[in-house]
Amino acid sequence: RYEHISILGLGAMGRALADALLGAGREVTVWNRSAGKAGELVARGAKEASSVGEAVAAGDLTVICLLDDASVRETLTPVLSDLTGTTLVNVTSGSVRQARALAGWLEGHGVRFLAGGIMAVPQSVGTPGAFILYSGPRDLFDRVAPVLGPMGRAHWVGEDAGFAALYDMAALSGMYGMGAGTDHAVTLVHAEGGDLETFKREVLRPWLEQMLPISVDGADASASVPDEYNPAMQAVGLENLLAASGEAGVPAELAGHLSASLWRMRRAVANG
Ligand code: NDP
Repeated sequence: RYEHISILGLGAMGRALADALLGAGREVTVWNRSAGKAGELVARGAKEASSVGEAVAAGDLTVICLLDDASVRETLTPVLSDLTGTTLVNVTSGSVRQARALAGWLEGHGVRFLAGGIMAVPQSVGTPGAFILYSGPRDLFDRVAPVLGPMGRAHWVGEDAGFAALYDMAALSGMYGMGAGTDHAVTLVHAEGGDLETFKREVLRPWLEQMLPISVDGADASASVPDEYNPAMQAVGLENLLAASGEAGVPAELAGHLSASLWRMRRAVANG
């Protein structure tokens, strides 16, 4: 049974995870490389470990939330021999290959390992919209999910340890695409003297809400353009949009997503 959770890493995200677990009444031990980050958590009932080894030994389960894959390896390498038989859940962001290699490395040392991807920001951790992707052994996930549930709804995405990172990174690509589009949109409206609040509330939000399901459900990996979207018409539309953006003095870099779409439409036209 996993009753006591240790957290390695008290950056903005690690602190939010620890806070959510404490709020749900879990026993929590925390460790951070540099001192001074545990104060509020300790005041709320967490114990602070003075070393990685002490933290891992204190918990039935250790959640790792550091900067990147290199920092995870740097942190775990000195205590590797003490990790045999322990359960580690890594929610540090990294690439798919890094997640698979980390799982292989740790499992090779007798660690029960789950890879994670946090679909939340620190402010939303523990709220109903937050969810965390996990990949790795299903039976381990089934035991860990109820314990870590307070951090965010636990969602298993497969045995392949790389899948949590894969879906996390791909979803971030979608988010950054939307962010690039909305940044460009408001810059253009502002540059031409439009009212930003009216535009955001009455136009952009309802438009994106209408398009979101169509865009997500219609996406396919071939990046083909369905006939009903008439790529020739869309190429002209995108050229107009880029021209309007240039006329307003919006930096071309902010319109990169439009250039990518124009490239796709022109390719579809060229392919007939
Ligand atoms: P922060 O920059 O706030 O914190 C980074 C943490 O990593 C600190 O605890 C830092 O310790 C530690 N660290 C960095 N390098 C090392 C090292 N070489 N050895 C040991 N510890 C190290 O980042 P966040 O907490 O925001 O993010 C943590 C992870 O969560 C990242 O992988 C991030 O991608 C992911 N994430 C973050 C989100 C966010 O919105 N913040 C959203 C979703 C995922 P020290 O204090 O000593 O510097």
